[in-house]
This record gives sequence, structure tokens and C-alpha cells, in this order.
Amino acid sequence: MMPYVITKRTRAIAAAMVLAISGPSALAGHHVQAGEQQNAASSAATFIRCGTLIDEKSPQPLKNALIEVSGNKIVSVTANAAASSKSGPGTWIDLGSETCLPGLIDTHTHTLLQGDQRPGQYEEQILKWSLPYRTIRATQSAQRALDYGFTTIRDLETEGAYYADVALRNAIREGVVPGPRMKVATRALDTTGAYALIGYDPALTLPHGVQVIDGPYEARKAVREEISNGADWIKVYADRSVYHGPGDTMESIPTFTLEELNAIVDEAHRERHPVAAHAMGLEGVHNAVAAGVDSIEHGAYISDDDMKTMLARGIYYVPTLYIFIYADQIHAAEGFQGWRGGTAIHAETFRRAHKAGLKIAFGTDVGGFEWTINPAKEFAYMVQYGMTPAEAIRSATVTASELLRMQSEVGTIEPGKFADVVAVPSDPLADIGALEHVSFVMKDGVVCKNDK
Ligand SMILES: [Zn+2]
Repeated sequence: MMPYVITKRTRAIAAAMVLAISGPSALAGHHVQAGEQQNAASSAATFIRCGTLIDEKSPQPLKNALIEVSGNKIVSVTANAAASSKSGPGTWIDLGSETCLPGLIDTHTHTLLQGDQRPGQYEEQILKWSLPYRTIRATQSAQRALDYGFTTIRDLETEGAYYADVALRNAIREGVVPGPRMKVATRALDTTGAYALIGYDPALTLPHGVQVIDGPYEARKAVREEISNGADWIKVYADRSVYHGPGDTMESIPTFTLEELNAIVDEAHRERHPVAAHAMGLEGVHNAVAAGVDSIEHGAYISDDDMKTMLARGIYYVPTLYIFIYADQIHAAEGFQGWRGGTAIHAETFRRAHKAGLKIAFGTDVGGFEWTINPAKEFAYMVQYGMTPAEAIRSATVTASELLRMQSEVGTIEPGKFADVVAVPSDPLADIGALEHVSFVMKDGVVCKNDK
């Protein structure tokens, strides 16, 4: 065992020295180099000709645009490029009849979950699937995300798979397996008695889908532990047991006390890490907003007062509309009433949030529904509930990049940003459903999909 210990220590010391000498950005640079090595075959530029380009920077879509890519970065974007401008060395990709847009961003995914709405599905994964098997399945989910056009994701907890998301994020970053850039939350935090698996013989010690903690001291320790193990985000469950309240409201049972939530948010922010809160009903949302989290996940019902606080504090809303519609369909098929009108209240909350000008970031909760279903279905509901197609696209590009604090790297197609480009055969501004048919995906300057 001793040589292993020495090797491990030596590596840790070497890593610490690199950090001390050059800071984290140098490490990021190292990863970029690794990616470039992988694609070293073409040090010459790649040119993508787009019939239409929604670059998310210009006020209007650009016609006959030419995107120049070198390595993993965008070098230039030219509108009205003459067809005869094809010249010089490099790779030319003709998307002259397609609409191109920035790589899409899903800010709420679970790569380590393969559906949990059908009876027994969650228990099977938690109790029967090994951690290695779940991780292998997660690499498949990551590949699917990329195929659907999502070049960046925020993976919001592993559901009992510990730190497997950190391993997946790093393996993708190093070019070991294909997948989107990932921000990860590792293990979500919840209190005793609030999260599956529960309801079994008390004599049994069973695993949970979360890290179970109680009290502000355990809260701070858990946040420190997760960050030290590689978490980019902290995920916390603010409530459970959501139910239809008086009028058109949804109420819930808060999990953590405000004292506990404050400790989680304070500790995470002290270490410069943002916090995402699962909050479904009035009380859960209110507590999470009061504690100053950075994003409200789901938010089936948010009071007007809490929306005002969210606006004032710049707290994002990630509505995840489709998962609840999907769940209702499953529950109806199984013969019991799921959420009793909850989706209608959720839709109304979305409409109010949009009208109030809240920052709404695209997120789907995919993994809660199977990865074989395209999470881009979410777009259609956002438009059905009041967004224009252009606004829905912006929520999955610019707004999502801002939530992830990655706006200098992704979210628009402009010089200096990562070369993440997708294309669809028809106009998504005319029919948002076009985004369910991504035919071309480039991530980091590498073509991952081209159906032409
Ligand atoms: Zn989720």
C-alpha cells in the first residue's frame, strides 16, 4: 500500500504547486490544450456556412453567415458572406439551408438517473444498480445530451451516486468520453425523513438519494465536503410533499429550517459556490428566496412577493415544465391522480414570472424522465405559456450561460467564445419545435453530429 500512498501524495503536492504558481485559470488552459491535442489534425481553420445564424448577439438573425473556427474557439463571424468566398485552406461545412445557433444549455439535468417516475424505477436504480453501472449509464446520457444539441449542462445531483458526476465531468473535459461541458452539484442536501428511500422497516439501513444532514453545523460540513470533492454547485431541497393549497396555490412542507438554509447558503457563498434550491410550493420557495439561493428549481407556485425579492436579488427561475406533464401522463396511465391540477398552476406561475421579468433559465430535469426522450420538448411549453420562440432560445443560451457564470465562454456565437454551434433544418423562430430536430452539433470546435 505504501507506494500508492506516496504516489497519491506526490500527485496532490504537484497539483497544489501548479495551483499555487499559476492559479486555476492555468489548469483550465491545460484542459483546453488536451482538447486541442485531440483535434490536432486540423490546426487550419474550419468554416461553417449558415443559411441563417441566430448568434444571440446581433439584434436580428444574420443571413448567409460564415463562422470561422480555429482550435476550440470562434475566430470570426461574417454576415452576408458571398458564396464565392469559399477559399483558402481549412475545412468547409455547408449548412446553407439550415439555421445555426449557439450550443444549447440545459441547466437542470441528472445524467446519473434513467427515469424515476414509473413505479419501482427509482428503487431499482438505488438498490440494484452498482455505482460503476450507473456511471456507465451516465456516460450514455451525456452522449445523448450532446446528440440533442446540448453542449453545456448543469447536472443537479447524482441521486445516490455520490461523486460520479465529478468523474464524468472530468472525463469529458479531458476528452476520455464525449459529452457536454458540465457543472455538477454532486450530492443534494436534505433532512432526515424527507427523501427516498423512506418508509421501509426501521431496522434496515438503506441508501438515500441525497446527503442527509440536520442542523447548521452538519450543513456547513456537508457543503465543505462536497466542494472539496469537486462540486461546482450546491443543491439543496427546500421542501417536500407539495399539495394544492387554497385558491390557485401550491403549498409544501419545508425541509430545512431557515437557520439551516442560511448556513448552507452562507457557507457555499463564502467558498464562492452558488446554490440551487429545489423548491416547489409557497413555503419552500419563500424560505429558499429568504436564504438567498441563486436559483429556484421547479417553482410550481411562487408568490408575487417572492417574485419581487427574486427580481431584486437576481435569483433565477428554472421552471422545468415538461417533467410534470410527463409525470401526470405516467400517473394517469397507472390509474392514480398525480398532482391534481398542479401543472395548470405551474403554467400560471410561469406566465406571471415571465410578465414580471424574472430571469428564466432553460432546464428540463431530464433523467427524471428517460434520456431516450428529447429534453428539447421543454421549449414548446415555454412558448405555449407565453414566451416568444426568440425568448425561449435566449433562455437556453444567454440566460443559461449567465446562471452558470459562463457568459464569457458560451451562450453566444462571437469571437473568443468556445466553438459550440448547433443547427436545425427549419426555422425555430417560426416553429420552436424545430429545436427537437438538431441535425448538426459542434462542441469545442469538433463536429459531434452531422446528419447531412
Ligand atoms: Zn431534478
